[in-house]
Order: sequence, then structure tokens, then C-alpha cells
Amino acid sequence: MSKIDVILAGLEKVRPTAPGEWVACCPAHEDRSPSLAIKDTGDGRILLHCFAGCPVEHILAVLGLKLADLMPEKRLGPVEGLKRLPWNPRTVLEAVAFNVTAIAIAAADMAHGKLEPKDADRVIDLAAEILEAVKYATR
Ligand SMILES: [Zn+2]
Repeated sequence: MSKIDVILAGLEKVRPTAPGEWVACCPAHEDRSPSLAIKDTGDGRILLHCFAGCPVEHILAVLGLKLADLMPEKRLGPVEGLKRLPWNPRTVLEAVAFNVTAIAIAAADMAHGKLEPKDADRVIDLAAEILEAVKYATR
């Protein structure tokens, strides 16, 4: 079984979204609708992103895997590593749209005095992720 097959077999509600890309329920948090994006880059790397913010290390721990399991056997050379963007623009836009929606919900909660300090920290993280996406798109 390939690495991607091992990862997908450990997840629930796996659904393909594009060639080499899937969404599934994140095993690291209570996840009823899939919020984990999985991408097989085709060059031996596997990318995981939980839109709820779980660190990849937590996701891997639940799956019984290590970061090295997401990397190719042989290291990529510097040129080979830059050739291809790991996420397509649509995936990046979907991530930004998710974060903007979460920030809008937090803003509505804040307006009703329902935002807790930990939620405010999460909003700052979501905004930082959007800035990262912009950097990613402009590199
Ligand atoms: Zn998660």
C-alpha cells in the first residue's frame, strides 16, 4: 500500500476534490463535516491541512505516522522542489474563504458579547493564515 493509501485508509468521510486531492474528517478534533485537506503532490510529498487549525503533528499522531512519512524517500533538490506549487489556486482560495467565514462568525459573536479570549486568539491565527496565503500566491 502506498503512503497516501495508508493515510486515506486511516480517515473517515474521504472524498476526492481534484486529482491527487481529497477532503476527510480530521482525526485530531471532533469533526463531523470534512475539514482536513489532503494532497498527494506526486513527487513523494503529502500535504495535510486542517481548516479548524489542528497542527499536522497532532493529525499524524492520531494516524500513528511521523512527519517523515509525508516526505519523499529521497530529498528533493532545490530546483526540483520549487518547480511545482503544492496547492492549486482554488484550494488556497477555498482555505481563505473558510477563514473569512470563520472570522465573520467570530465578529457576529463578538457583536453579541459571546467571544471568549481563546476564540479571539483563533481569529488572529485565521487572519495570519490569510496573510500566509497571500504570500504563497505572490511568490
Ligand atoms: Zn482538525
